[in-house]
Amino acid sequence: MYFKENTVAFVDGEFVQVDQATCSVYAQSLHYGYAVFEGIRAYNTPQGSRIFKAREHYERLEYSCNTVGMPLPYSVEELIQISYQLLEKNGLSDAYIRPLVYAGTPNMSLKCPSSSNLLLAVWEWGKYLGDQSLRLTISPYERPNPRAVPIEAKISGHYVNSIIASTEAKGRGYDEALLLDMNGYVAEGPGANFFFEKNGELFTAPAGSILRGITRNTIIDLAREAGITVHEKFFTPAALQGATGAFMTGTAAEVIGVSSVNDVVFEKPFQDTIGAQLARRYQDLVTGQVGARRTRPLVERPA
Ligand code: PMP
Repeated sequence: MYFKENTVAFVDGEFVQVDQATCSVYAQSLHYGYAVFEGIRAYNTPQGSRIFKAREHYERLEYSCNTVGMPLPYSVEELIQISYQLLEKNGLSDAYIRPLVYAGTPNMSLKCPSSSNLLLAVWEWGKYLGDQSLRLTISPYERPNPRAVPIEAKISGHYVNSIIASTEAKGRGYDEALLLDMNGYVAEGPGANFFFEKNGELFTAPAGSILRGITRNTIIDLAREAGITVHEKFFTPAALQGATGAFMTGTAAEVIGVSSVNDVVFEKPFQDTIGAQLARRYQDLVTGQVGARRTRPLVERPA
């Protein structure tokens, strides 16, 4: 359940009860998927509720707006402030925050609007893909061609591709899809980035056909800080043969293990992989426990 009777959202400059918010049936965004959004998490920390990487998320929202020509009449600072207010008004400290910038005025044309609407919704959300290692399948659907749409912007319309890929994978009995790019290289999941590990090193797709996730960047930083080599380079599904482990990253999914991709089963159980150790470091970081686990080296290297 996303909301209760008294849940409030921030809609067009006001905090309103969710069941009283409205949207025009002629809203351009509703018809054409022309909107941009973010997915952000707040965590309980010893200092109270803290939004993880709020600035990075709202800078990406600004970037997405600029990319599609959607006006955004709020600064990053204002958006951060509104987010904290919204958490407080709903009595939430550990929650998912969804800002959406959309063209809500009646407009059936294909022209950029001169004004936009902003809403922020919050809800309590567990790890989006659960906490059991995932069985992935290579999707017959590719990620959108970056020469057709600006793939690094978080545009609502891109998620039609995500929804059909995820649904198709689940229809074949898998937990989630793994999508290739237009050149046949592994890109990412419908709502999360993908990493695999081989010979103690990590590999992930480079910028190009992916959303460069904020969680992805955080994991790369944590890994490099621990002396682990991370390769951001193109690879085909064949490179997954002989991999010891894999995982996906995203704000909603956090860090979740992957046990197999099609018939390639990774050698180690997720809990024995570098990914699992990075997942613990990530939890420590987002919940403000940094340093708590720093007494042990991340990877036990042979002497
Ligand atoms: N790729 C896609 C397609 C996504 O939707 C998401 C979720 N925003 C990610 C990757 C992960 O991005 P982030 O870590 O910034 O949440």
